[in-house]
Amino acid sequence: MIVVGWMLTERPLIQTIVAPFFFLFMVLGVLGAFQGILFAFKKLHVGCPLCRKKSHVVDGNKQAIWLDCPDCGRLHVTHGLVRLKITRCRFGQG
Ligand SMILES: [Zn+2]
Repeated sequence: MIVVGWMLTERPLIQTIVAPFFFLFMVLGVLGAFQGILFAFKKLHVGCPLCRKKSHVVDGNKQAIWLDCPDCGRLHVTHGLVRLKITRCRFGQG
């Protein structure tokens, strides 16, 4: 909401109208893409977001996925509006 407020005050009129919609579509696009990627992830090994080693996807849902990285251990990856949020867990903690 802070970002949208900034857009409303700093941008010209046409961008003021378009910006919230663009922002909304961007968010929906990210969510849609994430679900599509997630579906593919379950069958694939993906690069660890921290060290880029091949990691196995152990679980996932709309909000998050869990990776097993050989170096970093269990990673809990969630997506925020701007970027991925990665939480590192110890092995065996699910
Ligand atoms: Zn790693």
